[in-house]
Amino acid sequence: MPTPIDLRSDTVTRPTAPMRAAMAAAEVGDDQYGEDPTTNRLQARCAELLGKEAALWLPTGTMANQVALRTLTRPGDEVVICREAHVGWHELGGAAANAGVQIHEIGQGGLFDADALRAAVKPRNFPIFPTTSLVAVENTHNRAGGIVVPQATVRQVCATARELGLATFLDGARLWNASVAGGLPVHELAAPFDLVAVAFSKGLGAPGGALLAGPRATITAAHRHRHRMGGAMRQNGVFTAAALHGLDHHLARLPEDHANARAFAERLVAGAPVVLDLATVQTNIVVFHLPAAVPIDAPTLSARAREHGVLVNAFGPRTVRAVTHLDVDRAGCVQAADVLVALLAR
Ligand SMILES: *Cc1c(COP(=O)(O)O)cnc(C)c1O
Repeated sequence: MPTPIDLRSDTVTRPTAPMRAAMAAAEVGDDQYGEDPTTNRLQARCAELLGKEAALWLPTGTMANQVALRTLTRPGDEVVICREAHVGWHELGGAAANAGVQIHEIGQGGLFDADALRAAVKPRNFPIFPTTSLVAVENTHNRAGGIVVPQATVRQVCATARELGLATFLDGARLWNASVAGGLPVHELAAPFDLVAVAFSKGLGAPGGALLAGPRATITAAHRHRHRMGGAMRQNGVFTAAALHGLDHHLARLPEDHANARAFAERLVAGAPVVLDLATVQTNIVVFHLPAAVPIDAPTLSARAREHGVLVNAFGPRTVRAVTHLDVDRAGCVQAADVLVALLAR
């Protein structure tokens, strides 16, 4: 059987030969002593790119989120997030287990506004309420179909947070995609936030890694929590060289992924009775739903597509996600859509 067209996630990319060469050639040192030159270079470059004082590499985006929560909150606090955000849905309850916080989900379709935030924040100095201490935004929003959060909304949400005494965190695992799609530099997208996370293992194609950026004092605190969670590594330049290579060579090609996602989505909508609002297809993610009239559910569609060499994720009982990335070209995306259309036509 030929190599499957793998649209389960943009994390499935394998490092390219030039990326592996960059990893093999990386200058390294012991990062726990601050002596890994490649990691120091990536952190300095990303601090500047993101318009923040300092940056800290972490092994995964999940750990970046967990360290951010631990750094910006105290146990017993409440954190406001958008409905279905990664922090609440994809991290095994880590917010509760590691930071000791409870999650309050608001909004719809990856978005909430300043009024919704204001309504969600518990009154302070009242003996029964938890302290709402942090609001997090996910941009792009994965489960909402990779939508880009409008920057005007972000600015209003963060201004309201500051007024109410909340810290602000941006889960920007796919901030690179948001920047490319919306035409705004990442430092502008990150500017309203106290702390921002970005990932290298998604569209940039590195085998792993993420980074937090923010004020020096916050990053110093995050550094301690990273170590406590076991995320302090040694000759880390092997990884950070891949991230640097991704920034140099894969950032500029993200529009291709976005165009491929659109081509896939348009073909799917034209041929199959799926529920998919094309307006949500703004980046490299396509989330669609199977209405009751479709005789198969998402896990069945995913299993049958696999038999035809196409991999997609069943994201819910009747929800499917496909993600484009540098290992799948336009022809592959079109073929994948055709396979799904044929399966849904039966
Ligand atoms: C993938 C992802 C993460 C976690 O990144 P990993 O490196 O896979 O742990 C965090 N937030 C969002 C929005 C993501 O899509």
